[in-house]
Amino acid sequence: MKILIVEDERDLAELLAFNLEKEGYQTLVALDGRTGLERVRTEKPDLIVLDLMLPEVNGIDFCKHLRKQESTAALPVIMVTAKGEEIDKVVGFEVGADDYLVKPFSTRELLLRIKAVLRRTVADDSSGKSILVGPLMVDTVRHRVTVNNEEVVLTSTEFKLLLTLAERLGRMQSREHLLSHVWGYNHTADTRTVDTHITRLRSKLGEAGEMIKTVRGFGYKMEA
Ligand code: CA
Repeated sequence: MKILIVEDERDLAELLAFNLEKEGYQTLVALDGRTGLERVRTEKPDLIVLDLMLPEVNGIDFCKHLRKQESTAALPVIMVTAKGEEIDKVVGFEVGADDYLVKPFSTRELLLRIKAVLRRTVADDSSGKSILVGPLMVDTVRHRVTVNNEEVVLTSTEFKLLLTLAERLGRMQSREHLLSHVWGYNHTADTRTVDTHITRLRSKLGEAGEMIKTVRGFGYKMEA
C-alpha cells in the first residue's frame, strides 16, 4: 500500500513517513499541493494524508480536484488540520475527505484511521451479490453503484455507508452504529461525520437518495 503525505511542515511530513514505513507502508511526500497533485497522477497512491493549509493548492481545492476526476474520485483521503485553523470538519467532509484528524495527533491514531479507511476499500462482502433497491443497484463485488443503470462514483466511505444501509433495508441504524461500522470508531460523540456523509451520498444518488430516510434523533434507514 502506497501512501502519499501532502504536508508543508517538512519535519512532520518526514516523521509521518518514517512511522508509516515502520508499519510496512510505502510512502511519498509532497511539500505543496501542486506537487501533491502531480504525485497523485504519476505515482497512483492508495491513500492520501492531506494537510489543509498548503502552499500552491490548499487541501480543500486539492480534495475537490481529486473528486472531480474519475480516476481519483474514490481515492481515500484523510484530511489533517491544525487546531484553530479556520475550517469546520464539515467542510472537509463536504469536499469528500473520508476522515479527518486535528493536529497534534498520535501516530497510533493516524494508523488506526488509515487501516479503517483502507479496509473500506477492500471488498469486505464475501457473498458476492448485488443489492437492488428501487432504481438503485449496489454491486458488492465490483464496488459499483448504479441508479437507473447510470453509474454513480462513490468514495469507499460513501460506498460502505450505502451498503450498510442497503443491506439492512427498512431497519433503523443509529448514528453511533454507523460510525463504528463504517468508520471503525469505537468511542466518539462526533456523529456529525455521519450526517455530512449522508448528505453527500443523497445528493450523489439523486432520485435514489430519497430512499435514505432520517430517523429524527436517532439515525437513518433505507426504504424502497
Ligand atoms: Ca500546513
